[in-house]
Amino acid sequence: MRVAVLGTGLMGAPLAMRLLEADHEVWVWNRNPERAEPLRAGGAEVAATPVEAIAEAEFVITMLSDARAIVEVAFGKQVRGVLRDRTLIQMATIDPQESRELAAAMQEAGGDYLEAPVLGSIPEATRGELIVMAGGEEAVFRRCLPLLRCFGPEPRLIGEVGKGAALKLAMNQLIAGLTASFSLSLALVRHEGVSVDDFMTLLRGSALYAPTFDKKLPRMLEGDFERPNFPLKHLDKDTKLFIRAAERHALALSGIKGVEQLLERGLLEGLANRDYSALYAVIDRSPPQAEDRDAREADAD
Ligand code: NAP
Repeated sequence: MRVAVLGTGLMGAPLAMRLLEADHEVWVWNRNPERAEPLRAGGAEVAATPVEAIAEAEFVITMLSDARAIVEVAFGKQVRGVLRDRTLIQMATIDPQESRELAAAMQEAGGDYLEAPVLGSIPEATRGELIVMAGGEEAVFRRCLPLLRCFGPEPRLIGEVGKGAALKLAMNQLIAGLTASFSLSLALVRHEGVSVDDFMTLLRGSALYAPTFDKKLPRMLEGDFERPNFPLKHLDKDTKLFIRAAERHALALSGIKGVEQLLERGLLEGLANRDYSALYAVIDRSPPQAEDRDAREADAD
């Protein structure tokens, strides 16, 4: 299949690579062209403009930061004419209402639209193990399936446009809430001089455990938030999107708004492009050093 991938950032690049590995014909475009260039070696054509990429393709995948970027890139004046008869697969995390507006814009441009946000990060994208939550018409979903299966083993059609986007926000609210909550407990344990090993051993054996705790524990203990899989700025964006969507249903939001404040403090402290587990550094401003060493040794056993 002939596919344009617009946005070859942290997630867009491995998605494009998966398509190339499955022998699809791929045109890539990125605002900063340096980030698209490495895909040339994998067999991609690097387009100079979004129009150039879309013109060659039947399917257009957008993996851009947010809805504003999608509108600028895929619905700019020059682009509109070339969207006719194309299928736009929107994979970023955006608000359900924004997704419905993109679907309407795509219909007006004479093309089809499927939202297909994903759960999982760079390692899962690289291995084709993402959880794909689609929203749109069943016929469009079926046409997109050969591509979606490059990204995850069991792409699922959740319902009409908006439902996949809503489910993705529900998942990411859990990322924000679980990370903040785990960070706070870990910080107390360390400051009280309780062994992190004891904490983790009991936690792992309890109903409270989530695998994300072990994934992020080494970063939190080391204070190493470089080389992000999912940057803190995007978790802040998704938390805000969740709050906006949940406000439409008058849900009680004080808990997640507290997490939003922590994320905003992280942004002010220059952590925007660090891994989102840097939430720990916002919560625990002076982590005890000695316990770090003990915990690392314990983890190595
Ligand atoms: P990223 O590395 O920051 O990539 C963002 C992409 O959007 C880049 O290609 C960037 O171009 C482009 N972009 C942003 N604003 C633009 C604009 N105004 N015009 C043109 N291009 C623009 O982020 P990512 O992690 O790949 O995330 C992309 C989307 O996937 C986000 O919605 C994120 O929430 C979602 N997501 C991320 C993960 C993850 O683990 N990372 C997982 C699931 C979903 P430049 O390179 O030129 O800046």
